[in-house]
Amino acid sequence: MKIISHYVNGQHTQASERTQTVFNPATGQVQANVSMASQAEVENAIAHAKATHQTWSQVTPLNRSRILFKFKTLIENNIDELALLITQEHGKVHDDAKGEVIRGLEVIEFACGIPHLLKGEHTEQVGSGIDAWTLNQPLGVVAGITPFNFPFMVPMWMFPIAIACGNTFVLKPSEKDPGVVTRIAELFTEAGAPDGVLNVINGDKEAVDILLTHDDIKAVSFVGSTPIAEYIYTKASAHGKRVQALGGAKNHMLLMPDADLDKAVNAVTGAAFGSAGERCMAISVIIAVGDIAEPLIEKLTPKVTSLKIGDGMTPDMDMGPLITADHKAKVEHYLEIGLQEGATLVADGRELSVKDREDGFFLGGSLFDHVTPDMRIYQEEIFGPVLCVVRVKDYDEALTLINEHEFGNGTAIFTQNGEIARHFCHHVQVGMVGVNVPIPVPMAFHSFGGWKRSLFGPLHMHGPDGVRFYTKRKAITARWPTIMHNQAEFVMPTMK
Ligand code: NAD
Repeated sequence: MKIISHYVNGQHTQASERTQTVFNPATGQVQANVSMASQAEVENAIAHAKATHQTWSQVTPLNRSRILFKFKTLIENNIDELALLITQEHGKVHDDAKGEVIRGLEVIEFACGIPHLLKGEHTEQVGSGIDAWTLNQPLGVVAGITPFNFPFMVPMWMFPIAIACGNTFVLKPSEKDPGVVTRIAELFTEAGAPDGVLNVINGDKEAVDILLTHDDIKAVSFVGSTPIAEYIYTKASAHGKRVQALGGAKNHMLLMPDADLDKAVNAVTGAAFGSAGERCMAISVIIAVGDIAEPLIEKLTPKVTSLKIGDGMTPDMDMGPLITADHKAKVEHYLEIGLQEGATLVADGRELSVKDREDGFFLGGSLFDHVTPDMRIYQEEIFGPVLCVVRVKDYDEALTLINEHEFGNGTAIFTQNGEIARHFCHHVQVGMVGVNVPIPVPMAFHSFGGWKRSLFGPLHMHGPDGVRFYTKRKAITARWPTIMHNQAEFVMPTMK
């Protein structure tokens, strides 16, 4: 059985005493055992990262960037292997896994520009003969804790920028699909990163709690579900750390009666069911305004019932399995809840069976109509291939619903009316907004983050906010002896 251990100080470590199984969700078979780090193992990784920070922070930004350029090339050269690792452990279809690698690669490309991004500000003559400038300096050792659904891309949101800024990193990936991160760490070493700059620790709450409380961890980046994000934010903040914690979502598509319905239906089918709905930016609710609901259901239902579902390595599949049997059971339970709450189950994914993959964690696409805001299937994140349709009378009612929802990660409006679209962009209480774009994930040179209970902390991830998060500012004011005072000054200094 394959063992996935930790990667510390440029080397794979021995397996931990405690391990957990990693499945291939398409076959339902165990394919590896992943080590679950003990306190001593996490502390060892932090100690290596701390020791390395002394030298790494002195490497010039240009030379850090050169390592990232080599890393980028290695990722490009190994994209098929990386996508294979993702598909084998996560289940998403191979082309989608490749897309994930490319979106992660874009953050490395952004981080390659670090000499420019780190430039401070300079003011000559803030006072007579006095100059002032600000520097952006690294924090020290920083930690990242990532979810199962983007095992490659989400770690990339964090460590390339943190490391480019001069920090060293301890990464704790999801224990459900940790394999690809180990490979990333090997490639980073191959690119020329000194040992101890990027350290990978596998594990669960036991490992995470040490990262949240250890004195030598200066900042924590987290992506995952809202209850855990809130816990991470509260605990790490209480221990004096800078924290950004991205949580769950319930992303609404607002469908106006004037939208191009055929195009909107295609867009939502991909956005709701791609990656089996296990995307934090997946559309999980359509708010159908006015009389568009009937034709919407008519056109959408056959799309949902004809999704091509199978092993992610089989060509031309639309979606693969869910991550685990437990998660599949949780999503199925939500289908029961929706029926009990009185919603109409127009397409029922439980009827699916995949030939030669009967033990895989597959669930077909499901579509609920007549969902109302008081239902749990509307309020809670299901994180599976389940799409809810809510019918409302007008745009104002739709906007109010979105703004009153506890999550505010992503949303999209589909319309041909520019004035309505502009009103929506201005007034909607959501962090990432699409206009006729169903999954408005910002590019790497912009920042990614939701509002409300989809993000705890002031700064979004990657882009300009990433550089802000991983650096602290230092303001310097300087003058030279010829203009210094000859006696003590007791009044508050002002610039003349
Ligand atoms: P999760 O919250 O269960 O786990 C995320 C990470 O936290 C994992 O590394 C896990 O080991 C760790 N963890 C889990 N329980 C913990 C605990 N009690 N104490 C300390 N650490 C703990 O999330 P998941 O199931 O892996 O991922 C799916 C969730 O992530 C969804 O809610 C999805 O919306 C969210 N997500 C959000 C974004 C975003 O950008 N907002 C992006 C991707 C995923």
